[in-house]
Amino acid sequence: MDSLGNILCSDSSPSSFNEENCTISQQNNSKEDAQEFPEQNKEDAQEFPEIAFIGTGSSVPNINRNVSCIMIEVENDKFFMLDCGEGSLSELYRLYGLEEMDRRLLNLKSIFISHQHTDHHMGLNSIILALKL
Ligand SMILES: [Zn+2]
Repeated sequence: MDSLGNILCSDSSPSSFNEENCTISQQNNSKEDAQEFPEQNKEDAQEFPEIAFIGTGSSVPNINRNVSCIMIEVENDKFFMLDCGEGSLSELYRLYGLEEMDRRLLNLKSIFISHQHTDHHMGLNSIILALKL
């Protein structure tokens, strides 16, 4: 991260800073964008599938992006996981807290691994241990 990035970014806290967020937040500041994307009401928030990008760093994780993991809630209390990189359990805990993480794991129906690279499956051990399978 360079100092120019911090200057351009409205939210430069270490946990949320990355260049993509800066670009997005700058675009959302214009009134035109606000009109194109009206605020969602609570009913919209309940729509499925809900796709949560737990890790998007692929094989090059950093402090803001863990290795690959996507969690999809296809309907209420029915979850699927696409890839499960190392640290995915920790990311779930960090993002959702203990109670919501437990709800997601206890209702996890399947984990799909896209291919054999370690950044896509090294988190399976901790998920299995957490579920005590
Ligand atoms: Zn790979």
